[in-house]
Amino acid sequence: MTELDRKDLLGLEGMSAEEIELFLDTTASFKEISERTVKKVPALRGKTIVNLFFEPSTRTRASFEIAAKRLGADTISISGEGSSLSKGESLVDTLNTLSAMRPDVIVMRHSASGAPQFLSRFLSTPIINAGDGQHEHPTQALLDAMTILEHRSSLEGLRAAIIGDIGHSRVARSNIHLLAKFGAELVLCGPATMLPRPLAELAPRISLTHSIEEAVSGADVIMMLRVQLERQNVLNFPKNEYFQFYGLRLEHLRLAHPDAIVMHPGPINRGREISSEVADFPRSVILNQVENGVTARMAVLERVCGQSS
Ligand code: ASP
Repeated sequence: MTELDRKDLLGLEGMSAEEIELFLDTTASFKEISERTVKKVPALRGKTIVNLFFEPSTRTRASFEIAAKRLGADTISISGEGSSLSKGESLVDTLNTLSAMRPDVIVMRHSASGAPQFLSRFLSTPIINAGDGQHEHPTQALLDAMTILEHRSSLEGLRAAIIGDIGHSRVARSNIHLLAKFGAELVLCGPATMLPRPLAELAPRISLTHSIEEAVSGADVIMMLRVQLERQNVLNFPKNEYFQFYGLRLEHLRLAHPDAIVMHPGPINRGREISSEVADFPRSVILNQVENGVTARMAVLERVCGQSS
C-alpha cells in the first residue's frame, strides 16, 4: 500500500483512482471496530482534532466526532455562530489562531465553495473538507462508494442514476468524480435548472436526461439528492410538482435492475424527492450510508493524521 501523497483531503477531483482506493481499503479494515462491544482503538491516541462547522450539520458533524473518538483522539467542536468570526475576525485569522494551538487535523465545513482549498495554502495543519458550498463533499462520496461496494463487487461498469438538484450539490459533484474515475456509467437527471452542463464533459460515460423513467431504467444504483431548500423559490418548483416529475416512487423501481439500491445523503425530504415507501424500502441503503460514514471518516482521519505524525 502506498502512502497518501498530500497533507489535506480537500476534494476528489484531483485525486487518482489509486489514491481513492487507499481510503477505501483502510475503510474496510475499520468497519469491524464499530461492530465491537467496546468500539475504541488507540490508533489516534494523543492526537487532537478540531471540528469547525460554519454550516448546519447533523450527520457529518456527529460522524466525524464519533469517528475521532473511536480512534482515541481528543476532539473539540466549534460552530460558526459561537466563533470569533461573529466578532469580525477573518476566516484566515480564525484558522491561524486554531492552528497555533497545534491540533493534528482541522475538519471544516463552510458555505463558500473553495474555502478549505484557500485556507490550506496558509496553514500547516492538515484540513479535511467536510463539505464546501456547492463544490465537494469528499467523505460523503467515499462512504457512498463503500456502501455500493457492499452490494456490488466493483464500481466499474455499474450504471448509477443521480437524480435531483445536481447543479447545486457537492455530494453529486464528489460522487461524479469518484464514480467516473472507477469506470461507472452515470446518468444525471433533473430539471434543466438543476442540471450541470460542464460536469457532463467530465467523462464519456456520463449522460443527461430530464426523464426519471429513463434515468432509472436498468440502474444498479439510484442516488437521490435533496433539493437545496434555500433555492426552492429561485427554482420556482412547488413541492408537489417537483415530486410528480422528479420524486422517486415505487413504480420507478420496477424499471431499475432487480437488485438496484436506493441511496440518499440525507437529510431526506419525504414526499419531495423520495416517497416514504421508497425511503423505507428494503433495498434503500440510506441508513447503511450513515453507518458507513463513521467508518469512512475513521479511515480518512487515520490516513490524514498518519501523514502528520
Ligand atoms: N448532507 C449533505 C450535504 O451536506 C446533503 C444535503 O444537505 O443535501 O451536502
